[in-house]
Amino acid sequence: MNMQLLYDILAGYGPSGCEGRVRAVIERALEGHVDSLETDVMGNLIAVKKGDGTGRRIMLSSHMDHIGLAVIDADKHGFLRVCNVGGIRAQKLISGHVVFENGVCGVVGADEKVKGDVTVSELYVDIGAQSREEALSMVSIGDMCVMQPRFSRLGEHRIASPAMDDRIACFVQAEVMLSLPEKTRNEIVAVFSVQEEVGLRGATTAAYAVNPDLGIAIDVTGVGDVPKVATKLPVSLGKGAAVKIMDRSLICTPSVVAMMEKLAEERNIPVQREVLPYGGTDAGAIQKTRGGVPSGVVSIPCRYIHSEAETVDLRDVRAAIELVAACVE
Ligand SMILES: [Zn+2]
Repeated sequence: MNMQLLYDILAGYGPSGCEGRVRAVIERALEGHVDSLETDVMGNLIAVKKGDGTGRRIMLSSHMDHIGLAVIDADKHGFLRVCNVGGIRAQKLISGHVVFENGVCGVVGADEKVKGDVTVSELYVDIGAQSREEALSMVSIGDMCVMQPRFSRLGEHRIASPAMDDRIACFVQAEVMLSLPEKTRNEIVAVFSVQEEVGLRGATTAAYAVNPDLGIAIDVTGVGDVPKVATKLPVSLGKGAAVKIMDRSLICTPSVVAMMEKLAEERNIPVQREVLPYGGTDAGAIQKTRGGVPSGVVSIPCRYIHSEAETVDLRDVRAAIELVAACVE
């Protein structure tokens, strides 16, 4: 695995709707290795490897965008008031470090509360300004910040970073495209999508345009292997790629699930079954496009999703690369 590419993809600033820097990193990595590489109106990066004409058209999708906060206003003391971009649990952001596209840094505070979790409207971002004017000279209303990129290696196999959802899947998808043989039967269309976190918006238009015979999304999924969890999810870190059965956006096409499990068994790729009672992913948009597209999802198990500490196991990442590569073959 090209760890430098992984770090570069993880480090790119890219809240929903502002994915340009991540796109540039992936574009540079794929240039010269695929038959075409284009950015559509929405900002999706679409990489195509042509088939020999006898196969099917397979669409892969992983999303480049990351959750963030958008500036609504600044108060007279210079604290920024914000709204969420994507699904944010406000409590998880308190005391975190954030960064804007122009490099302005901030830390997240919250109005004091005696009882219960804070909401996003009770958060503020402290960028060191001392008045409203000073704050709005540093950032503008509508500017978005994301959790500051950083990485920690945890033990031999694990790595933690804020943008794992879903940059780890962008990395998997890029590695699959870079490892394709010279000639392929199937046409493989890899979409690095935008605005997934705000409702699968990039994948919705891309799926219509690509018109695939088969859709496979790659995304992270929640795990049940940490102490005292409310819902005991069936997935664990280090036990392989997860084959999604369902989440809130789709019930995966049974024949696609069966194909993934068969390929995994034949090739000794470790996999586990996933049922996610919340969340959604790009496959939900692909499956419902036009007259319907058989669709499935290869997931990477991830702890602490939508926090600064999103943690994955590199053995699961390797298994996901192998499984997606087997599916497009
Ligand atoms: Zn995601």
